[in-house]
Amino acid sequence: MKRKISILGSTGSIGRQALEVIEKLPDKFEIIALTAGNNIELLNEQIRKFHPKYAFANDITKVEGAKVLSLEEICSNTENDIILVAVSGRVGLKPTITAINNGIDIALANKETLVMAGDIVMPLAREKKVNIIPVDSEHCAIHQCIKNINDVDKLIITASGGPFLHKTVEDMKNATVEQALAHPKWHMGKKITVDSATLMNKGLEVIEAHHLFNMDYDKIQVVVHPQSIVHSAIEYVDGSIIAQLGLPSMHIPIQYAITYPERFEGIKSKTFSFSEIARLDFEEPDWEKFKALKIAYSCGRLGGSVPVCMNAANEEAVFAFLQGKIRLFDIINTVKAMVDNHKPAFNISLDEIFEIDEETRAKTRELFLNQV
Ligand code: NDP
Ligand code: MG
Repeated sequence: MKRKISILGSTGSIGRQALEVIEKLPDKFEIIALTAGNNIELLNEQIRKFHPKYAFANDITKVEGAKVLSLEEICSNTENDIILVAVSGRVGLKPTITAINNGIDIALANKETLVMAGDIVMPLAREKKVNIIPVDSEHCAIHQCIKNINDVDKLIITASGGPFLHKTVEDMKNATVEQALAHPKWHMGKKITVDSATLMNKGLEVIEAHHLFNMDYDKIQVVVHPQSIVHSAIEYVDGSIIAQLGLPSMHIPIQYAITYPERFEGIKSKTFSFSEIARLDFEEPDWEKFKALKIAYSCGRLGGSVPVCMNAANEEAVFAFLQGKIRLFDIINTVKAMVDNHKPAFNISLDEIFEIDEETRAKTRELFLNQV
């Protein structure tokens, strides 16, 4: 039987690659809904090609060939077997919760959902017996390695190190938007690419891993691995380490997540060859140059509203950087200032999370008002 799937964010980097995966597995999937933000042309092209019943875009008047439903309505539709949440930013959180409440499995690319509300989302998923299968390549790797979570002693998350890995602090300070967007290994949306340049992306992933695998922060280690072949690893209590390897491509984690627990040849192309790639390097992150990682660990450890504040300040600062208003290093200085001034709150509701998110964003934007 075909698996019924909806893709939130089908016009983005993950969404487009998900449709490439689905195209290779036409007998396995039926698309229920596709959604865009502003890229209405691509959405309408996708509708013509994949014939979803429902669709959404910010300008609903321009959607052609499918009935318009909001993200929330799509996620309430129990026709869906699985929903791929591939929108970027906080917009992913509410629909994910709605889908979980309706017992629909989630393939989760949107890491902000867990950074903002992991304490709500994961217990709810357990209560509703909903699978949350990670799409993020590191978490997908860990998911593939784990047999019994109780036997796992440590998660080892790899980081490519981004475009500034071996550049000086000065180079990084003066980096242009173009340089920050020139990721050596992955082609992704702009926001996550800038996060990869500051290593905030790895920080968000540490928090994501803490929630997904219910693992203490002391047991989550980040290691820099420039070749991006080892996508992450786990260490069992007996000292055995299992890693997942492959050429850097999001097709594999996307396919894994949406076909789980089955595996198919699907979009498989060139595979990693041990003899062709003669060496794999690993090194400790430079904690001084990449302060974002340190900040994310400490925000994660504090928990409650602190990661919400960190995430919101970071997102606004990244947008300001992309608009040429601030320098790359100002992103992390801004996040630190916002977090230092934040009064933590604990056991917060979803509404409170959105309030803190909005408040932090407004304050962060105020900081940039007088910039160029
Ligand atoms: P993109 O920016 O490429 O795509 C984002 C998608 O979300 C687009 O379809 C966009 O629509 C849609 N969108 C954005 N804002 C809204 C909104 N307000 N309402 C409705 N739709 C909206 O991002 P990525 O695909 O790179 O990343 C998506 C998520 O996956 C992020 O959370 C990211 O952290 C995570 N991720 C991405 C990876 C990657 O390789 N790209 C790897 C691991 C995780 P439109 O373009 O039409 O405006
Ligand atoms: Mg990742």
